[in-house]
Amino acid sequence: MGSMLEVHGLTKRFGGFTAVDRIGFDLAEGEILGLIGPNGSGKSTTFNLIAGALPPTAGSIKLDGQEIAGRSPTEVCHLGIARTYQIPRPFRKLSILDNVALAAYYGANSLISRAEAWKRAEDALALTQLPADPGIRVDGLGAAGLKKLELARALATQPRLLLADESLGGLDEHEMDQAADMLSDIRRERGITIIWVEHIMGVLMRVVDRCVVLDHGEIIASGLPRDVAHDPKVIEVYLGTDAESLQTQVGGRAAEAGAC
Ligand code: ADP
Ligand code: MG
Repeated sequence: MGSMLEVHGLTKRFGGFTAVDRIGFDLAEGEILGLIGPNGSGKSTTFNLIAGALPPTAGSIKLDGQEIAGRSPTEVCHLGIARTYQIPRPFRKLSILDNVALAAYYGANSLISRAEAWKRAEDALALTQLPADPGIRVDGLGAAGLKKLELARALATQPRLLLADESLGGLDEHEMDQAADMLSDIRRERGITIIWVEHIMGVLMRVVDRCVVLDHGEIIASGLPRDVAHDPKVIEVYLGTDAESLQTQVGGRAAEAGAC
């Protein structure tokens, strides 16, 4: 069976600055791929290219063998790719339920009824453990709630592929664990393939099947989390940040699985 997503030579320049530099990777159906790298390494830009928010300068993005590079965000969404935003911008005056129902309505690839949009929203809210009560507004949500709302809005479009951008930003340790488990559950229960972007590696490393590491727009390493975590180039990039915690996490996971 071929890959679900194939990215080749993907490049984005902003004027003379190359934010994403000829990157390539494949993604199999049902996989969780971690796309990691320091701030400014080109992770969100890569998502913007895949999701159609930005046209690539060069390169190819194939979904099931079909070229999708340069398509509009709406088209890409209707093909089954949903993304979350690093900075959530919900409709603040609407209920949580209505925010998600709007995503379900506009993200559906055929016209659906209001009742169906609400049903899809309720389902996405159950998956992200948010209240579906129409009286509960978005204003009251903290960082963790807003991250969940981003996920719920993406899931309500019923994607096959979810692009999750910095789902851990602003969360405490317990909330990070919960967010990681949530992504893991989404894959297991719904069979949704996931690319998970994060600049910190820790908790991500225990959930993803494979990692791709970006630095200055280029891929500097890719492979199994435990291999990537020991790669000298990756350690250098992360030196003085969380190289140690990253190795502890990966070591812990490998020990649990009896892998070493
Ligand atoms: P990451 O998500 O890895 O932190 P980004 O993909 O957001 O990084 O950004 C990569 C680089 O591209 C950064 O230097 C950023 O300033 C630059 N960049 C991103 N978007 C634009 C844009 N629309 N115009 C100009 N530069 C941009
Ligand atoms: Mg980013």
